Amino acid sequence: MRISDRLERIKPSATLAVNARAQALKAQGREIISLAVGQPDFGTPAHVCEAAKAALDEGFTRYTPVPGIPELREAVAGYYGRFYGASASADNAIVSNGGKQVLYNLLMALLNPGDEVLIPAPYWVSYPAMVQLADGVSVFVSTTAEQDYLVTPDALEAARTARTRVLLLNSPSNPTGCCYTQARLDEIAAWARSRGVFVISDEVYDRLVYAPAEPASLSKAWEAHPETIAIVGALSKSFCMTGWRVGYALAHETLVKAMSKIQGQSTSNVNSIAQKAALTALNGSWDIVDEMKRSFVRRRDIAHAIITGWGAQCPKPDGAFYLFPVLDQFYTPDAPDSAAMCSKLLDEAGVALVPGSAFGDDKCIRFSYAVDDDTLRTALERVGKVLTGR
Ligand code: PLP
Repeated sequence: MRISDRLERIKPSATLAVNARAQALKAQGREIISLAVGQPDFGTPAHVCEAAKAALDEGFTRYTPVPGIPELREAVAGYYGRFYGASASADNAIVSNGGKQVLYNLLMALLNPGDEVLIPAPYWVSYPAMVQLADGVSVFVSTTAEQDYLVTPDALEAARTARTRVLLLNSPSNPTGCCYTQARLDEIAAWARSRGVFVISDEVYDRLVYAPAEPASLSKAWEAHPETIAIVGALSKSFCMTGWRVGYALAHETLVKAMSKIQGQSTSNVNSIAQKAALTALNGSWDIVDEMKRSFVRRRDIAHAIITGWGAQCPKPDGAFYLFPVLDQFYTPDAPDSAAMCSKLLDEAGVALVPGSAFGDDKCIRFSYAVDDDTLRTALERVGKVLTGR
């Protein structure tokens, strides 16, 4: 069977591969704990589920406009007003199948073949593959644990060329959990604007920021310079709705139309019932998120104390639900890199983790703390034993 050259070049998702191996071991009767998860372990809030049931009962089951029902687009625009004081209209919003499709649509709409995309590393696994699918070229800008994995305008400038078209920023970050302050985000956006580089700001974890840090967004900068920035958001992580597949963008009307064109020829609208649920989520109470944040802060502290207790370097992040410690001092001849070490930890500790190589940093391993406290402690004790022998 012949598969296109374009696809042959794309790597399969490392996260999915880890999960598949963990499932296979479970099927053999092994007790496996997964800290490889990329979703909150909380359920979708009841009032959101009720809204979906009502939509179904009302027969709201037909095609909708491709970029989303008007009231939902309005709610997306309203979200940025409510939380960040940015003023936008429904024409600046598009609703897509998760943050993932928003990113894909954006890259397809913005890139010509050979255009370069600056991607601070470590980066979310799908960015390079998406850039490649859109015929762009990823240019990675490395950051280190000492820098809390945050990029500077100087480092971006050093990586910029005449072909640089887009900067793909992600805060809070998957895999590091690190967050830019509002001031640093604004500084980077100003640098990008001065160089004619378009910023895609992936803010899908924006509600999951832990005090004293505060949520930051480029939505105000977008309002001032709408032709230079697009914001990516989603209900997946912040509202425990990963399976519903609702993401959205705030972007210039022309870009929204371009994205809508791509979406109209690929998936059309997001599931009509999920759109009604999303409308209730966006316009309703966000108290559930505060509860979830309290759990995440507690678990972050537990995990960070245990991991740094191994002697590993690990910034204590202000957002999302991941830790990304440097663990290469524990690599061994039989497990000389992050992928081999993750296999070893799966086999010997029964814990599934994602190798740092999937995120562009082979010295590290990603730990998700979206599991209950006891499970988290047990998993980390088992990993610690294999790594340190203690
Ligand atoms: N951006 C980042 C940084 C993510 O971690 C994810 C999901 O893991 C996404 C985007 C995509 O989210 P969604 O599930 O809404 O497609």
